[in-house]
Amino acid sequence: MLKKVWWKCNSCGYRFQEEVEKGTPENCPSCKESCTFTDVTCYSPDCGGPESGNFDPRL
Ligand SMILES: [Zn+2]
Repeated sequence: MLKKVWWKCNSCGYRFQEEVEKGTPENCPSCKESCTFTDVTCYSPDCGGPESGNFDPRL
């Protein structure tokens, strides 16, 4: 199974999943800008842990 990471666009706040191997996306799928992205993958048990495939809603 491919590992996925949740990214959040720092410009429009859009969250999306991408395969880890692909790294940081060039352009946001929502606003189409070349934004910076924050890793909002859930790493704590509060939101299900890293195996859950969830994002962290607090980020
Ligand atoms: Zn965006």
